[in-house]
Amino acid sequence: MKKHLTFLLTLFLAACIAALFLSFIVFKIIYPHTIRPSGSVSITSAASGVGYYGVGMHPAPAEQTALKVSLVANLFGPQSVPKQPIKFLFFGDIMLDRHVKDKINQNGFNYLLEKLAGGEKRFFQGADVIGANLEGAVTAGGKHYPPEISIDFAFNPDDVAQLKNYGFNFFNIANNHILDQGQTGLLETQKNLEGLGFQYVGCPDRQIGECSIKILDIKDIKVALLSYSMVYGTLDENKVAEQIKAAKQETDLVVVFMHWGVEYEQEARSNQVALAHKMIDAGADVIIGSHPHVVQEMEIYNNKPIFYSLGNFIFDQYFSRETQEGMAVGLTVDNGKMEVTLLPFKSKASQVELMSGQDKERFLAWLAEESKVNEEYREQIKQGSIIIY
Ligand SMILES: [Zn+2]
Repeated sequence: MKKHLTFLLTLFLAACIAALFLSFIVFKIIYPHTIRPSGSVSITSAASGVGYYGVGMHPAPAEQTALKVSLVANLFGPQSVPKQPIKFLFFGDIMLDRHVKDKINQNGFNYLLEKLAGGEKRFFQGADVIGANLEGAVTAGGKHYPPEISIDFAFNPDDVAQLKNYGFNFFNIANNHILDQGQTGLLETQKNLEGLGFQYVGCPDRQIGECSIKILDIKDIKVALLSYSMVYGTLDENKVAEQIKAAKQETDLVVVFMHWGVEYEQEARSNQVALAHKMIDAGADVIIGSHPHVVQEMEIYNNKPIFYSLGNFIFDQYFSRETQEGMAVGLTVDNGKMEVTLLPFKSKASQVELMSGQDKERFLAWLAEESKVNEEYREQIKQGSIIIY
């Protein structure tokens, strides 16, 4: 009898444990993200949609596999929680002064981007972060302040605000023009960007500090955005590597923006290459470069893409084809897999338009030829879409 009772009791206990375990699984399925990373800024993403992701998209992994993975991963805490894909769209230099300002005054701001955007601005749909290098200060009314220099950019906050209508929510400001309007200009830029609801990162040229890093929380994924400018001299590269290493430890993804290289040169210099490798060795997952005003080659080093320069995006250098061509880069990051979409465009009188047909073919063939990648990736570059595992 006693034996019988013990058996029943054990059975009852086992049933209780099984029930508890099952309800835990059900709870985790219903509320998969109860644990959130802290200490970072949340970002409002653009509405979901097709956007540029329709271009050269590869099929998504089977749903069933994803479900199986999520069930297993959810049981073992936040470290292995499966992440949703996050999408970035990055551009090179934006300059809204000088002749670009004239174009805005003559034709309105939308003149610049309406061709690229397409109907319902579909090109810009679906990305969580849309960003570019903002090559100048954002001052009250676009005013210019001393010191007056020969190339001296200031943008009107009303014009910068227009970029929000296209989904832009992030700017790199580490560059050689952020101090064109002095320290006042820098402070006004920060205040204005904050007031307009843009995220931004970057210290002035050659400086490294807290302003060099911003951590964003995107769909529960912690993304470190770091940014440096080395136009008028060199950076303390060890300090840069240390900052990247520290960022890597507390985030899931590290994106580094570099303002570097020599203007109008289509090939990266050896100091860019050496620093890019050092930054990836320290933990950078992707490097996005700007400043040369033309596109430079790309490289895949240790499975991490490096874009040495994306060229001009919105600018007024009408004197050559190369300065009126640029490239946007779409990144979809999904559980360790990175899909890169290459989106070359051209501009005429600062009006930007996606390349197509022979133009696009010629551009991508050139990029494939010049880039430091293996043959498999070279073929993918020609198609405009690269998958890196
Ligand atoms: Zn620059």
